[in-house]
Amino acid sequence: MKAFQFVEFQKPGKLREVPVPEPGPGQVLVKIGGAGACHSDLHILGMEKPAGGIESFKIPFTLGHENAGWVEKLGPGATGFAPGDPVIVYGPWGCGLCMNCRLGMENYCQRPGGPTPGGLGKYDGGMANYLLVPATRFLVPLGTLDPVDAAPLTDAALTSYHAIKRSYHLLGPGSTAVVIGAGGLGQMAIQILRALSASTRIVAVDTAMDKLEIAKRMGADEGLLSGDKAVKRINDMTRGHGAELVLDLVGINPTLQMAVQIARVLGHLTIVGLGGGTLPVNFFSPPHECSVASPFWGSIPELMEVVSLGEAGKIKILVEHFPLERAGEAYHLLHDGKIQGRAVITPNA
Ligand code: NAD
Ligand code: ZN
Ligand code: ZN
Repeated sequence: MKAFQFVEFQKPGKLREVPVPEPGPGQVLVKIGGAGACHSDLHILGMEKPAGGIESFKIPFTLGHENAGWVEKLGPGATGFAPGDPVIVYGPWGCGLCMNCRLGMENYCQRPGGPTPGGLGKYDGGMANYLLVPATRFLVPLGTLDPVDAAPLTDAALTSYHAIKRSYHLLGPGSTAVVIGAGGLGQMAIQILRALSASTRIVAVDTAMDKLEIAKRMGADEGLLSGDKAVKRINDMTRGHGAELVLDLVGINPTLQMAVQIARVLGHLTIVGLGGGTLPVNFFSPPHECSVASPFWGSIPELMEVVSLGEAGKIKILVEHFPLERAGEAYHLLHDGKIQGRAVITPNA
């Protein structure tokens, strides 16, 4: 089969011929309907060396950590699914046995090195005709949703959902949530905020006007260009108090600088973007009792909730499909800010 692979640091990915994997005991082979291109892949392709040490990488490996498809073949002893079932793949593969894994939070697996997702270094991902999934507990039935479109639910939506849910108690009437970066994740975050809290004022902040227009179509009350004027506008609209939740989906110094000026006392400043910026913390800043957190992905039960939101039509993904042969081009476009929503690779289309 063909696979779009990471072959070298600071080099673009490459289309290569690889064998179709054979599912071993308990494993499942999934025929890929769609594999999303996440900005995190650009961070990884651009790294000089792996952040977690070279032992966290098996090079080459197939990219694609946001996957959906159909069950193709069950390994010996794997049960609960049948060939042809439409499924979405939970990405952060943990040990299944530590406390966090048993609670469904395999994103925070406590074994040394944490979870080992497919497509992020150690195991092959879904930008290929088939993906080997290590256990059936990583599959969530897609119900009425089409795997060709649904893949972004398992990262763009799940990550945003998890990041928002921890701040749910802050999002009552009169509250304000600011989403910095209205790309793949941001567009999901806006719709999730709207679905979970009808009364929250949602403000989208981006450097691109077209993204702000999309953000407004997806439920944002206001769209602001990134910078000092956005800080002033948000502080004015909250009568100088700031926003209950500031979700930074970029995470570079300028966005963190903005975030800390628009978060309120007792608020949440949540850094999801891997931009690598830093935020000085002392008694005077961030605002008093404002919590700063950097959530990673989400839990299996949360993925089930996200799929429910998708099935209910509460979150719609703006998908741009690309055949496997054009995966490299999709990443170029993503890098240049030219993907409107989420690029999804469709190896079997
Ligand atoms: P994307 O490229 O689709 O969207 C990024 C958006 O940010 C674009 O709309 C862009 O115009 C905007 N942007 C860029 N610079 C900006 C600035 N200075 N101010 C405001 N907006 C700006 O990317 P994505 O796939 O949505 O990913 C977003 C980030 O989230 C990436 O850093 C990615 O690595 C990270 N991520 C983190 C997790 C996690 O678990 N924490 C999971 C998935 C993705
Ligand atoms: Zn991702
Ligand atoms: Zn574990």
